[in-house]
Order: sequence, then structure tokens, then C-alpha cells
Amino acid sequence: MMIDFEFSNTIKGFMDDDEARRLHETALTASCMGPCLEIGSYCGKSAYFIGLACRDTGGVLYSIDHHRGSEEQQPGEEYFDPDLYDSQTDGVNTFNFFKDTLKRADLIENVIPIVTSSTVAGRMWATPLAMVFIDGGHSFEAALADYKTWAKHLMAGGFLVIHDIFMDPEKGGQAPRQVYERALTSGRYENLGMTGTLGVLRFIE
Ligand code: MG
Repeated sequence: MMIDFEFSNTIKGFMDDDEARRLHETALTASCMGPCLEIGSYCGKSAYFIGLACRDTGGVLYSIDHHRGSEEQQPGEEYFDPDLYDSQTDGVNTFNFFKDTLKRADLIENVIPIVTSSTVAGRMWATPLAMVFIDGGHSFEAALADYKTWAKHLMAGGFLVIHDIFMDPEKGGQAPRQVYERALTSGRYENLGMTGTLGVLRFIE
């Protein structure tokens, strides 16, 4: 099925349409080879783009997030959204929005939520992955930990996709770019180029 941008615009999140098309297209190839995994579910916007591909191929997406918002989404920070404040937990809570997106998009059978931090989820992980999409915390420590925890599980020919790569430091934080460049200089990936701020690499071995 094609992406319904009228629908995706109703999901909170940060991704341009051309980036969404690239993500969906990459997931169509990847999900035929094995499971996809994303770090940073938020309200399910990217899970919709990847999950849609998984539904068409009979694949699955593991979507990891503790759902308490990343550093920049906390009260008082630049990306805080008051709609996501949960008085019961006295903090950000994106899990209900995420579940609502999966239900509305009919992706319950294709997207598996993992509600914990990326490092805890990765502690005993042993399943080879066809796609790792890094879009979690944007501090250097968080982005690097996501890369170190998950990239090693890519199968040969699997895709490493990183969001929010800004070549111009004036336009955004540099952590995703640093991780992207670390992967490139490792010599273990083929560079499939960027769409907007989305970098796509293919693991060689
Ligand atoms: Mg992002």
C-alpha cells in the first residue's frame, strides 16, 4: 500500500514526506530479508512508514522507546509538547499516542512495541536484523549507544538508516551526523546516499 500522507500528517512527529518515502521504500526491501527495528517510536509516525512496508511483505518491525520522551522533549525544553504531558506519571508519556497510531493504521500485527530503553532492550538481543533505524535520543552518548548496541546485529545486506543528519551545525545537533560518519569510515557499509536528513547505508560484512 502507498503511504497515506493525509493520515501520516495526523501523527505527531518529525519527518518530511520525501524522507518518509525513502524510509518506506528501504523497509520494503529490508522486511523481505528479516525483521526491521527502530529506536525512537515517539507517537508512531516512522512506525507507520516502516510498518506499512512490513504489512505488505509479511514482515515485522520492533519499535523501541521508553515512551518518556527524549532529553529535548522534557518540560521546558525546545521540543516539549504539552499534549504529551501525563499528569498520572507527572511526565511525558507517548505510549498511548503510539498505540493509537498502530490501531488506526491497522498495524497491530506487524509492529511489536518494546517499552524500555534501547540499551536494556539490546542487552540480550540475538536476532539478526535486516534494518536498523536510529532515531532515538539526539545526545552524542545516546546516538552512539544506539549505534553500538544495534548495528552489530545487522545481517549482511541489511540497512542502517539514521535520521536527523545535519551537515550544517546551524540547522541541528551533530550527534546523528557523527554516528553516520563513524559508520561510513568503518568501511563496513556501502553508502546509498541521503534523502533530506535521512542517511541510508547497507551493511557489507
Ligand atoms: Mg528524527
